[in-house]
Amino acid sequence: MRTLMWFRNDLRTVDNTALADAMRAGEVVGVFLVARKQWREAHEWGEGKIDFVLRNVAALSQKLAKLNVPLRIAEAPRFRDAADLLMGLAADHRCDGLAYNIEYEINERRRDAAVDAAFADRGLSVRGHHDQTILPPEAVRTGEGRFYSVFTPYKKTWLKYVRDGEHIEAGGEPRRQAKLDIVSDDVPVGNTLADCWPAGQDEAQRRLDAFIDNHIDDYHTQRDLPAVDGTSSLSPYLACGAISPRQCWAAATRCSSGKIDRRRNGPTTWLSEVIWREFYRHVLFGYERVSMNEPFKLETKRLAWRDSESDLEAWKQGRTGVPIVDAGMRQLREIGWMHNRLRMIVAMYLTKNLLIHWREGERHFMQHLVDGDLASNNGGWQWSASTGTDAAPYFRVFNPVSQSEKFDADGVFIRQYVDELRDVDAPEIHDPSPLTRSRTGYPEMLVDLKSSRQRAIDSFKALK
Ligand SMILES: Cc1cc2nc3c(=O)[nH]c(=O)nc-3n(C[C@H](O)[C@H](O)[C@H](O)COP(=O)(O)OP(=O)(O)OC[C@H]3O[C@@H](n4cnc5c(N)ncnc54)[C@H](O)[C@@H]3O)c2cc1C
Repeated sequence: MRTLMWFRNDLRTVDNTALADAMRAGEVVGVFLVARKQWREAHEWGEGKIDFVLRNVAALSQKLAKLNVPLRIAEAPRFRDAADLLMGLAADHRCDGLAYNIEYEINERRRDAAVDAAFADRGLSVRGHHDQTILPPEAVRTGEGRFYSVFTPYKKTWLKYVRDGEHIEAGGEPRRQAKLDIVSDDVPVGNTLADCWPAGQDEAQRRLDAFIDNHIDDYHTQRDLPAVDGTSSLSPYLACGAISPRQCWAAATRCSSGKIDRRRNGPTTWLSEVIWREFYRHVLFGYERVSMNEPFKLETKRLAWRDSESDLEAWKQGRTGVPIVDAGMRQLREIGWMHNRLRMIVAMYLTKNLLIHWREGERHFMQHLVDGDLASNNGGWQWSASTGTDAAPYFRVFNPVSQSEKFDADGVFIRQYVDELRDVDAPEIHDPSPLTRSRTGYPEMLVDLKSSRQRAIDSFKALK
């Protein structure tokens, strides 16, 4: 038996369900399809994310070489090119079937259905495995068999299924196969953001170990402070599959004596975030409109969003005149990542204070994040815009200045990213005086926070 193993966002050899299964069954030839046109146009990925993925493919290729698994690289500008390319490779290498780990987005599911049908037509086998989440997205259901739309009951049921986390272990690396007479292709990598985000499963494991050793115990008290290195920074690696959620879960439960107990402490708070990731994939799978640019709450389609190119551009450039918002937006541009607390602050500011459609923000994030991920990004945006599952109630609008005073009290983070305010002390740094703004060249606020908050609340009320 020889299998063509199609890697997608599972770029690792350790704890890779499809790879392990295929290598148990016989010989394996790997393949990765480079779909730049699709990634850029349909997925709205930026160069940072594309290069991060390709650098991880290159790192994977090196790991596979140690297992004697060759990795073929093929350019497939569009998803619709996938079936022919894969069939061709399967024929060239005399493969009996195809294996992959399932992706849950609608375009990916349609692409895979076409590939499955093409292989079946030729009498070749296809095996799709659940791997991307700890529990398959469709496994957790309400008592009536429906998909959840609220996190807390979802988490309760999720935890019941995994029996308090006792049974989740990560798999190892498959045994090396005999050498095949097939040469691996070069991976077309660049060097975008490589210093911030080195690629590969070893780097991901190193980050996980460092987080578990040094930060997880304080996670519940530190995770909201952007100036502190208090979170794992694993999201880019989880998004491309350089590490699996099972590896994360197993490591965190090991350090909390094998249990996820009910007390709020570092490990349980962190594990809860891993379940948020599962929840958003559950939502993506259960409600197709999430993959199709629609709001989860359909009535919010009627909301009178503002159309202001100049306000949107100021937000993107980090020149809104709200220091914490601008610091977050500049962090995104500089390192392709933003702290979670800031993602919530800047998203609420765009969708509430500026009343600009969440799709604009979602798109900008996808174009700049190295961890860009449809399920979590859409979930986070719709939460912030009060249009999504279990969203923030529309009348609870963060005041970005109070958030800044609370989570960056000394202004350390603002100073790191907003050069103009380098010599401004707290508390003034959270909302500099007109004099300071004109002295430092830092812009006036685009909108008054109080009246713009009220405008957003009124717009939501008008939907009723
Ligand atoms: C508007 C908005 C957009 C977002 N876009 C993305 C995105 O494109 N990709 C992405 O991975 N996350 C996204 N998030 C969720 C979250 O901000 C990031 O996962 C987190 O900041 C990553 O940092 P970390 O790896 O240090 O997380 P940690 O705090 O160490 O958490 C561990 C892991 O849990 C998962 N996680 C944590 N918080 C969340 C959450 N709220 N929702 C879903 N999963 C979570 C991530 O995989 C993360 O790596 C978004 C949140 C918001 C509010």
